[in-house]
Amino acid sequence: MSKIQITKTTASKAKPDERVLGFGKYYTDHMLIIDYTAGIGWHDARIVPFGNLPLHPAAVVLHYGMEIFEGLKAYRRPDGKVQLFRPMENVRRMNNSARRLALPTMDEELGLEAIRTFVELEQDWVPSAPGTSLYLRPFLYASEPNLALHAVHEATYVLIASPVGSYFPDGLKPVRIMIENSDVRAVRGGTGEAKCGGNYAAATRAGDVAESKGYSQVLWLDGVERKYVEEVGAMNVMFKIAGEIVTPKLTGSILPGITRRSAIELLAHQGITVSERLLSVAELTEACEKGTLEEAWGIGTAAIISPIGVLNYGGQDYVINGGEIGPFAQKLYDDLSAIQWGRGEDPLGWTVPVPEKK
Ligand SMILES: *Cc1c(COP(=O)(O)O)cnc(C)c1O
Repeated sequence: MSKIQITKTTASKAKPDERVLGFGKYYTDHMLIIDYTAGIGWHDARIVPFGNLPLHPAAVVLHYGMEIFEGLKAYRRPDGKVQLFRPMENVRRMNNSARRLALPTMDEELGLEAIRTFVELEQDWVPSAPGTSLYLRPFLYASEPNLALHAVHEATYVLIASPVGSYFPDGLKPVRIMIENSDVRAVRGGTGEAKCGGNYAAATRAGDVAESKGYSQVLWLDGVERKYVEEVGAMNVMFKIAGEIVTPKLTGSILPGITRRSAIELLAHQGITVSERLLSVAELTEACEKGTLEEAWGIGTAAIISPIGVLNYGGQDYVINGGEIGPFAQKLYDDLSAIQWGRGEDPLGWTVPVPEKK
């Protein structure tokens, strides 16, 4: 029996046109909220009609940025049923982020139950057009009013959902990426491996500058030496260099992506080894010059795979695979998306069915 109390809306919204969903433009009818109070723990889990949140002007989150979030999707299978992809991984990562930001963690069972119960209620909002899904955004913030920052006594967990379109409605289109040499996203010992809003605040300027120069995102280098490749935009990154599949190893300033790990595990299952190691920008640009950089792609929940067609470094554009998506990235996309949307086998038991509505 669910401990989550449900108050249904009396004013259901019309579902948007599935062909023009975009990302984060529409929200479902409800949201899920759980309160935290020190000494009591998490309490009053409830689903209520979607609406604004009450927030004290001195709420810690507004002043000191104590906020973390997650991102995962519910997928509509060809048989009409709805499934989640490795949701427990998101629950666990949110707890890791909470620990880094000194926010309260949540019992894993409650975290998973929140997601499952919410998606079960909102399942009519999971779109079915190719490449579409229901994006789930759990987030957690310090809500107590207090300008003197110290251990958090009050926090709020919220879960909202947005039907989203395909990241690449016209097929996987390679993007132009600029290697960032001035701003850094994160440093070891900082919050780089936590999924927190503050990382995005620090990263936005470089992304904007890159965009103004005709690139869609930046490739981040490590924050200490600016020597090693870390992530691309808000995704992890992988390369195929002279046959070797390489991804930066998790050194503490890189977000441990669930799609990244799933790709590594799926490829291992297929007999392909991914090298998790340090990759210097010098090695990367040398591979560009020698023509041994065969493929490059970003990897994360939103796009699954985002192929990189051009890398810019020190004012020079390096074209990868003729600016086209390579066969390795294409197959990885096909294999991962077949599991997520239930079009193929789930050899590693990653999907979680959502019960159909009673
Ligand atoms: C969320 C995120 C990723 C990708 O993680 P997934 O679990 O694969 O979606 C990568 N980098 C950053 C900075 C992120 O915030």
